[in-house]
Amino acid sequence: MKRKPLIAGNWKMFKAEAEAVLFAEELALRVGDVQDREILVCPPSVYIYPVLHALTNTPVMVGAQNVFWEDQGAFTGEVSAPMIRSLGARHAIIGHSERRQYFAETDETVNRRLMACLRSGLTPIVCVGESLQEREAGRTLDVVGSQLKAGLAHVKADDAPGLIIAYEPVWAIGTGRTATPGIAQEVHAFIRSTLTGIFGTGVSAAVRILYGGSVKPDNIDELMAQADIDGALVGGASLEVASFERIIRYKG
Ligand code: PEP
Repeated sequence: MKRKPLIAGNWKMFKAEAEAVLFAEELALRVGDVQDREILVCPPSVYIYPVLHALTNTPVMVGAQNVFWEDQGAFTGEVSAPMIRSLGARHAIIGHSERRQYFAETDETVNRRLMACLRSGLTPIVCVGESLQEREAGRTLDVVGSQLKAGLAHVKADDAPGLIIAYEPVWAIGTGRTATPGIAQEVHAFIRSTLTGIFGTGVSAAVRILYGGSVKPDNIDELMAQADIDGALVGGASLEVASFERIIRYKG
């Protein structure tokens, strides 16, 4: 099955409002002609609205970096999926390793946030990936398999084709150490076969699986040449417009 590639930028907690808007305007000018791949930027939630405004009538979509699992209530400081959706955002990153590491995110809370996205019409980008210690202990596939099974619990097969999975080996995030295309492809193929086990072949063939972890202009072409890599979730290199444009315009 042909899956439309997605290149997504995770800005983390970077950029002030004026810089975020300028970046969005510049990016739209540079990639306005791109049609055969989807483009997404995920700014800090307080800048979703101005960035969306700057990207009106452009092919660049806007998403959130997280959502809370309840739709509303006395949860001081939290932002819900319906709130994000009402701004016009269409995607949300869920379970990023920085949230697992610094904010006590677990597979169970990943699942609750994922279900909140589906209720609200947001496409979740569910992040999974092993630590260096887990890889060195030969546990990569066990860890990724159990993150997937627990993270995707309760998802109905009808909703599953709209999911996006991001394989982000923790040891490759922000470290400059990218998984080789072969290592990434091996885990992506495993993720797809795990999805087949849960939802069946039709669904697993439709789900896009992004690679994330030190994606740069000089490694994107090789990564995107792999059969089960359907796009990239880009951190550092999405903060600079020229490098993000080059990643969007990967050759392949
Ligand atoms: C990320 O934040 O999801 C990420 C992959 O970061 P980087 O590209 O900087 O490794």
